[in-house]
Amino acid sequence: MTTHTDCGCDSLAQNYLSVEAALEHILSTVNALQQSESVAIRQSLGRVLAEDITAPFNVPPHRNSAMDGYAVKFSDLQEQQKPRLKVVGESFAGHPYQGEVKAGECVRIMTGAVVPDDTDTVIMQEHVERTSDEIHISHQYKQGQNVRHPGEDLQQGSVALAAGKKLNSADLGLLASLGVGEVNVIRKPKVVFFSTGDELKNVGQTLQAGDIYDSNRYTLFGLLKTLDVDILDMGVIPDDQQAIETAFNEGSQLGDMLITSGGVSVGDADYVTETLEKMGQIGFWKIAMKPGKPLAFGKINNALFFGLPGNPVSVMATFVLFARPALQKLKGLSDIHIPQRTAICDSHLKKHIGRKDHQRGIYFQNEQGELHVSTTGLQGSHVLSSMSKANCFIVLPQDSGDVEAGEEVVIYPFDGLI
Ligand code: AMP
Ligand code: MG
Repeated sequence: MTTHTDCGCDSLAQNYLSVEAALEHILSTVNALQQSESVAIRQSLGRVLAEDITAPFNVPPHRNSAMDGYAVKFSDLQEQQKPRLKVVGESFAGHPYQGEVKAGECVRIMTGAVVPDDTDTVIMQEHVERTSDEIHISHQYKQGQNVRHPGEDLQQGSVALAAGKKLNSADLGLLASLGVGEVNVIRKPKVVFFSTGDELKNVGQTLQAGDIYDSNRYTLFGLLKTLDVDILDMGVIPDDQQAIETAFNEGSQLGDMLITSGGVSVGDADYVTETLEKMGQIGFWKIAMKPGKPLAFGKINNALFFGLPGNPVSVMATFVLFARPALQKLKGLSDIHIPQRTAICDSHLKKHIGRKDHQRGIYFQNEQGELHVSTTGLQGSHVLSSMSKANCFIVLPQDSGDVEAGEEVVIYPFDGLI
């Protein structure tokens, strides 16, 4: 690898790793956590299933009516021009009709109620005229209409929910409909993180000349929260060799993943890189992306390690593109792609060939239903307000140059992402 710092020689990208290659390498290193825990249905929302859930019985369990109306024998209707049937009983939800239904008879039935065995068709109540204990059917009808069959929703023994699925509201209802009160979900990964840098102060402290407030630990907190993982924030570690070594050791023993920010730029003469080089199997990569060129990735002790760059926007971009999918895989998720859309770009975008850009954009849907996107303006990796203003990344391929207004671009909407 060459040691170009940010000198603008992006077109000389032969020593850079593509975003795709970096992600592939990362994912090949990550295995889903094996440990699971049993939780009650309500606690399973957003968790990842550790095992297939099969239907213990048919859903619905019995033939039932899709309408309020009358359960009839279709054969009776065939024999009469303007069918007229005697109402001999009622089948209500939870209160099935227990008797027999003979020729020329029918049963008043409600939605969800058991369709009596002797009947095969339900006529909706709007299609009959009722006079005391008789009905006249005036409308068209078909055999079997308005009857829901057992197993129509789920067949007994079929996989209702597959391992690796992140459980949503519908899934909670589905579990309940199967009578399943508890499920095995993959345990939450624990993520430990800290910031490095003598210039960093905590909110509440007074800034001295050259100091800045540590914002990365707050964005990381938010990013991790949206992923529903357990979090341990170790604070700011000063640029001191012993402190850094201790923090890397401690952090890697406390979590499944350790994330740090700062100190990984090529040419950085600080202790972070030096210490990491000593400690584990760490790769120091230059990724063909903007923002977020430098990234350290590997393992320290048994923890996965991400050394994210220091600049606030780079932290968010590299987290979203690399740490997030790694965590999703660790969580056992089967679907870890970032949802993308295409939009018409309303701005002219400057772009150097050789690095994949993740520019900050604001997208919206116009009255015709088309997605449009425009830039948030200044795109420096230090401009955190650009992330705050944006509602998407505008993703420009490594080999592309400037974008003219009116061209189509790919966007990653932030909903659920950051
Ligand atoms: P570094 O990679 O450590 O040289 O950091 C790159 C840039 O990001 C420098 O301007 C740092 O001051 C800034 N930076 C590093 N860590 C943080 C942080 N936790 N919060 C805000 N800015 C940071
Ligand atoms: Mg630093």
